[in-house]
Amino acid sequence: MSETLIQVKNLCKLYGLNRSEASAMMRAGSDKNTVYQKTGVTAALWDINLEVRRGEIYVLIGLSGSGKSTLLRCFNRLNRPTSGEVIFEEKALAEMNKQELLEFRRNKISMVFQSFGLMSHRDVLGNVAYGLEVKGISRAEREEKAMKMIEMVGLSGWEHKSCAQLSGGMRQRVGIARALANDAEVLLMDEPFSALDPALRGEMLQLLEQVCSEQNLTLLMVSHNLDDAARIASRTLLIADGRFAYDGSTQDLLDGKDPLAAALLGR
Ligand code: ADP
Ligand code: MG
Repeated sequence: MSETLIQVKNLCKLYGLNRSEASAMMRAGSDKNTVYQKTGVTAALWDINLEVRRGEIYVLIGLSGSGKSTLLRCFNRLNRPTSGEVIFEEKALAEMNKQELLEFRRNKISMVFQSFGLMSHRDVLGNVAYGLEVKGISRAEREEKAMKMIEMVGLSGWEHKSCAQLSGGMRQRVGIARALANDAEVLLMDEPFSALDPALRGEMLQLLEQVCSEQNLTLLMVSHNLDDAARIASRTLLIADGRFAYDGSTQDLLDGKDPLAAALLGR
């Protein structure tokens, strides 16, 4: 079995002021909605535990509002947990100082945002090379690297086009190429393909799987679509109303082997 890369231990994220009363209710088993009505606190995540192994594709699924994005953003500390820990290669994120956190985000973990946040005043090459530019890598070196990634996502010949000229699917590819160019060990993706039609989504997932295995990347991806998860995930975590609901083989989940999870997913 490959090595553990990331551990999440007893992670909770509560939004609102009256957190101690809300925590007591959650501990006693109240559901998120009741807790919100009583205390005004949203328990976005409650007592989440998981382990991600190096090189695996791990998918977080759940209904809208279940806490997927909140959890994903804890992996690079864009979200600070209310309690609990995220540990990367045996180092707790909470213990990193500002500089360490900056380096961690630059070198280890790269997030692909839902909207992709491409810069419209830059061409494809300028967007893909951006992360390397921030790292202070020379123009020749960063452009060479960026061109490789552009080729990898099938956009050769488009490098000097403005992103505004590209189709939605092509922009997604630029976003992926940009994330890959950073040489991160881990990619975080929040529903990266939800705006695409199913055929293109399938193509993108396949591309992503291929790139991850070629580069030995670890991918943590949020999806609300179990079929998409099943296409690439080695493992799936299901969260429901902020609580852990299932962690294991995606195929078992699809086959309805876990009755609770099957009910939650309407299968
Ligand atoms: P998902 O990505 O699964 O749709 P989110 O992680 O975005 O869910 O949200 C989980 C819960 O936390 C939701 O109830 C949402 O309303 C709440 N939430 C998310 N971000 C905030 C915030 N900044 N302030 C208050 N509540 C939030
Ligand atoms: Mg979300």
